[in-house]
Amino acid sequence: MSKIDATRYLNMNFTNDDTLRVVFSVAAALPVVYIGFQAFWWALRRYMIEKTTARNQTQTIGKPRKDGKLRGTCVVAGGSIGGLVCARAMTFHFEKVIVVEPDEILVDKRSRVGQWGQIHAFHNIIVKSSDALFPDFRRDVKAIGGHFFHPHSMYWQLGKDMMPFPPSDDDCEELGMTRMGLETIIRQNAFKKEYGIEFVAGTVVGATPDAKGERFQGVHIRRNDAKTSYYQEADFVVDCSGPVCAGAKWIQRPLSRDGTSASEVKTKWGPVQRSQYFPDVAYSTSVITIDEKLLKERPSLPRNPKSWDNAGFLHLVHPSPSTDPRASMIFNAEKNTIVFSAACKGLASELPDDLEGFRNWAESIQNTTGNRSLPPYVLDIIDIAQRSKDEFGHDIVFNKYKFTNCHLLKYTETKVPHNFVAVGDSLVRVNPIFGMGVSKAFVDVLTLDQILREKASASRGIPDRLSKAYFAKELPRADWLLQMTKDLDFGCSYVKPLDPGSKLSHGAPFRWFVDGILTVAARNPSVAKTVGRVFFFDAPPLDLMAPSLVFKAVKANLFG
Ligand SMILES: Cc1cc2nc3c(=O)[nH]c(=O)nc-3n(C[C@H](O)[C@H](O)[C@H](O)COP(=O)(O)OP(=O)(O)OC[C@H]3O[C@@H](n4cnc5c(N)ncnc54)[C@H](O)[C@@H]3O)c2cc1C
Repeated sequence: MSKIDATRYLNMNFTNDDTLRVVFSVAAALPVVYIGFQAFWWALRRYMIEKTTARNQTQTIGKPRKDGKLRGTCVVAGGSIGGLVCARAMTFHFEKVIVVEPDEILVDKRSRVGQWGQIHAFHNIIVKSSDALFPDFRRDVKAIGGHFFHPHSMYWQLGKDMMPFPPSDDDCEELGMTRMGLETIIRQNAFKKEYGIEFVAGTVVGATPDAKGERFQGVHIRRNDAKTSYYQEADFVVDCSGPVCAGAKWIQRPLSRDGTSASEVKTKWGPVQRSQYFPDVAYSTSVITIDEKLLKERPSLPRNPKSWDNAGFLHLVHPSPSTDPRASMIFNAEKNTIVFSAACKGLASELPDDLEGFRNWAESIQNTTGNRSLPPYVLDIIDIAQRSKDEFGHDIVFNKYKFTNCHLLKYTETKVPHNFVAVGDSLVRVNPIFGMGVSKAFVDVLTLDQILREKASASRGIPDRLSKAYFAKELPRADWLLQMTKDLDFGCSYVKPLDPGSKLSHGAPFRWFVDGILTVAARNPSVAKTVGRVFFFDAPPLDLMAPSLVFKAVKANLFG
């Protein structure tokens, strides 16, 4: 083989013409490369919107199936937010839908959902999906004094400074109400006569496989008022049992048809492994009614629009999601109520018990962000709440809540019945400080709706491997949330990794990168908007990796 003579090239003399030609060629190529990259990024983003979000599915949910309903009964185990929204979505697919829930549905109390009275943020995907599923949703929200607001009205300090969400965020609506308020509205809507959802006050205690051991044939339900369970035929079973993840147990230990012993049919299902960690999160929250007579004395708000009717987060300070374990929040909810909430990792014993304690908690967090004090309007809001108690006798009770583990159930890695899925916290449970659990449950429902439209048909029913298709589609839409929040949580020494080989040092580069992004977002409204859209489930996480954003984040970290 002939050798390349490098000196031939090194000694080459470029004439002026050659130099010009090279300069022109590069100049001509640059726009092509730029346009090519933009086209590539556009296509990649489109792909990632479908892969990692359920945004497109908000256009199709709530519409009748083209081929009519599937024959048979869908049993939804769990009648909390995830279960109720899922049940309503299933009425478009199945002839009959049954919700089984141990807490009586028309009672305004939830003994099994500890976060019932805790602060909740409800994002855009909830608003869009609820509009599609419940035609009276908006009217009902307004009737109880709830409201819709846009990010640019929010005082949201995730990082060292407030996020300046721009007014162009008008198409992104968030929901201003309590968890109790939203769940009550969803309950009332889901059980409207015309949807025909049947309610059973009881618990699903197990399930029975069909003769081939490939599907569930029915479930066993123990009514609240009975000691024994009864058998209910089921063509489709949805586990919405929240953190107890009951479905994983039904799969591992299927019951005989009479429900008294293990099934004689051998199945190849399970065991269902989980990935988990303990974030050591605790909350202290008070929902305080501001007396009518004090409403006019509420302070004017710092962000636009200044009206209380269009405001949600009046104050949220979480100085560094990765290194500071504390957060303080004030939220404008329905019926003149304001929610005051303190949250932390590892410092449960320091959480406040009263408004004075809340003020100190919020003040000390704010002080860590450049030694600043709480803004006067925040102090005024706290004063108005205190006066509501002192002058008008409204209760102020701070309720504490201790969170257990964050988890992902690895249904994609095991055999499961073809007609079984899990939705909500029974599939993926994330740290509540990031305010994403309910939105994620909606994403699960949107994905299930999509899979049933694409894979099932009225003539053939539920095909084999439908559940596999659902879990495979949902995993990339839900898992990034768990991975992202876990990487951030691992920056805190109170957090306990539980997976084999998992260490707090994992995710350090990601935490460094997020610190940079949050610094840039606090200065730049369009970056704040990008970050917000990802958090509000309206954009793919890929948007945080856009080259220009990565460049800005790295620059901010290196040069301030
Ligand atoms: C302190 C705190 C703050 C939070 N803040 C936010 C927030 O700001 N934004 C947000 O989006 N999310 C937030 N979350 C998360 C959110 O509350 C949950 O993600 C959401 O409730 C999950 O809904 P789910 O329907 O999956 O489960 P759950 O709400 O836990 O409901 C499960 C239901 O299943 C029932 N059940 C259990 N076992 C059975 C059985 N065998 N048969 C029948 N029924 C059964 C239970 O009675 C219960 O009603 C927060 C959570 C906590 C703890």
